[in-house]
Amino acid sequence: MRKKIAAANWKMNLTLQQGEALLDGLLAQSYALQPHHEVIVAVPFPYLTMAVQKLQQVPQFYVAAQNCYTKASGAYTGEVSVDMLQSIGVQHIVIGHSERREYFQESNQFLAEKVDAILAKGATPIFCCGEPLPVREANEQNAFVAKQLQESLYHLSADQIQQVVIAYEPIWAIGTGKTATSAQAQEIQAFLRSELASKYGAAIADNISILYGGSVKANNAVELFQQPDVDGGLVGGASLIVDEFAAIIKALP
Ligand code: PEP
Repeated sequence: MRKKIAAANWKMNLTLQQGEALLDGLLAQSYALQPHHEVIVAVPFPYLTMAVQKLQQVPQFYVAAQNCYTKASGAYTGEVSVDMLQSIGVQHIVIGHSERREYFQESNQFLAEKVDAILAKGATPIFCCGEPLPVREANEQNAFVAKQLQESLYHLSADQIQQVVIAYEPIWAIGTGKTATSAQAQEIQAFLRSELASKYGAAIADNISILYGGSVKANNAVELFQQPDVDGGLVGGASLIVDEFAAIIKALP
């Protein structure tokens, strides 16, 4: 059975002390996690070690970085490599978030290199994709997102693609309070799985977790996560509030 995942994306928020308090608050709650559940918390680089120390003894809880560079080491001032992240116990890395695509001009081709760099080290990429509002209004979202998968992921082998977690995040729903309806999320995520099945076969596509992201909250998580092709969520704003994110974890089916 593929994994169902509640993933937090703190983005560039919180002080170290606030981050510690948030993790302590989350860990103070009890969760009836099933074997196929995972909780992943993507924190800013300076807080990774703190988060690893708090979560490394907690089964099924993992820490993620929000980005990485493609090279292993060298003269790349300001960048962070997969090796560096692994050396502090981080095995999950979010890449291709729409904010990185928009503000830092990350292309599908560049993200293909990041996926390769992550998989080469046996780490897990959480690959974000999703369309902007004008594309959705023109009803061209399927082709747009399929192209993102094709250009960043389709060079991978069948073994490799199953190591990737995909997060579908319509840009018009990120941080806007405007959530895709559960029917909209299910429709496009079923489409993405069918695209993966055309390329890799149904059995492999069935193993790949596809998360939904875009204003997931405690009050819509249950309905979203009950959709057959929505395997959990990547959560921004609501992941900064203990009770909200705890409820989202508990909504995993
Ligand atoms: C995100 O950061 O990936 C995200 C989906 O944010 P929000 O939940 O705030 O829309």
